[in-house]
Amino acid sequence: MPSLEDRVFRQAIDQTFNAVLVTTAELDPPGPQIVYVNPALCEQTGYTADELIGATPRILQGPKTDRAVLRRLRATISKGGFFEGQAINYRKDGTPYLVHWNISPVLDTQQRITHYISVQSDITEQKQFQHLNEQLMASLGEGVFGIDRQGRLTLINRAAMDLLGHESEQDLLGLNAHELMHARHPDGSHYPEAECPINDVMQTDEPLEAWRDTFFRADGQPLPVESYATPLHGVFGETEGVVVIFRDISDQLALEAGLEHAANHDRLTGAFNRHFFDRLVEKECARSARQGEPLSLLILDIDHFKRINDDHGHLAGDEVLRQLVQHITARIREADVLTRWGGEEFALLLPDTSLEGARTVAESLRASVAAETFGSGLPRLTVSAGGTRFDPDESPKAAFRRADQALYQAKQSGRNRVCMADPGQSG
Ligand code: GH3
Ligand code: MG
Ligand code: MG
Repeated sequence: MPSLEDRVFRQAIDQTFNAVLVTTAELDPPGPQIVYVNPALCEQTGYTADELIGATPRILQGPKTDRAVLRRLRATISKGGFFEGQAINYRKDGTPYLVHWNISPVLDTQQRITHYISVQSDITEQKQFQHLNEQLMASLGEGVFGIDRQGRLTLINRAAMDLLGHESEQDLLGLNAHELMHARHPDGSHYPEAECPINDVMQTDEPLEAWRDTFFRADGQPLPVESYATPLHGVFGETEGVVVIFRDISDQLALEAGLEHAANHDRLTGAFNRHFFDRLVEKECARSARQGEPLSLLILDIDHFKRINDDHGHLAGDEVLRQLVQHITARIREADVLTRWGGEEFALLLPDTSLEGARTVAESLRASVAAETFGSGLPRLTVSAGGTRFDPDESPKAAFRRADQALYQAKQSGRNRVCMADPGQSG
């Protein structure tokens, strides 16, 4: 007659939620025999207790059961150790499930192993979820990495390793992500981790969106990226780390730079266009007024340009326009801005330049154009120029009108000439 205590233990194990199986300790062939299973194990496996008692635990194994795990299991428990592991098992109807075991030896009063007790749980769903997550991460075209509170890499997907030029995930995990890919700015200067927006995400618990920065690849090459960084919370709600999703935006940056160039430049000559110039003039006028520096303007127009087109064709005319822009660009300061103002008319904005200074620039350009040959077999070319200085008390338009009138005067007085108009003269 079992004691009350024995009965309670038996009932407890019978009724526990976990699947429990007890075998003999016979490890040599034919191996251990099942001596006890609880209803939860029958439920999990689809076998009745009668079918299992007396059988070997191999009844639960099958083609996909990992033999290496079984060998490790046998080696561990034969030495009296406790084993924890997982493998694929099979139900009576042949369907596989992923089992997690805790197997402990049961010792008698002389410390001999008489049985093994195995507590099993079906972790198929949990693993399935993890497995799908892993596949999802691996299949993403975006780079993904996670860091812990210390900034150490806790995960990194295939795309992130490819984008950053790294080979092995294992070599990267645990390294400081900022040091690894982000320790400097594109100009080479040090980028302290405390100033990194990813670090801010950790501190503020606020996500970071569409943030553009430069990571560095394993080979030291810069990688322009757009990133999204999101705080990760643990089960108790505290910030555990940050996950960063990023993509390579080199192509996009090149496209944007191209679009911006196209928006601001003239296609034929590469000089700035009027759209750009109009906005620049507003800004430069304001700046000149603020800083009390003079700002001057020249308008240059090719003399008798129609003749070049008429005598040598429009394409020859186009080539002359291109060469003239190169010629002028090579002779002005970096701060000066040359714009194709109209067909064969150019405006030149001269910051920090007085009216007299502008006259000198115009005269020197006029002379050098007259001395140069543009296009082979074409006649010499001359330009006329009109110029003025912006007056802070008038609108930029008034200065343009004045410069235009000065240009007209230069044309009227014989071309290949410079005429300057003082703001005081305008009426
Ligand atoms: P002026 O000395 O009075 O300036 O005489 P001009 O012949 O240069 O007269 P105007 O400035 O009025 O002529 C502009 C000419 O420039 C007319 C037009 O055919 C030509 N032109 C304008 N844009 C282009 C262009 O993109 N390519 C070529 N090849 N010619 C152009
Ligand atoms: Mg002309
Ligand atoms: Mg003209």
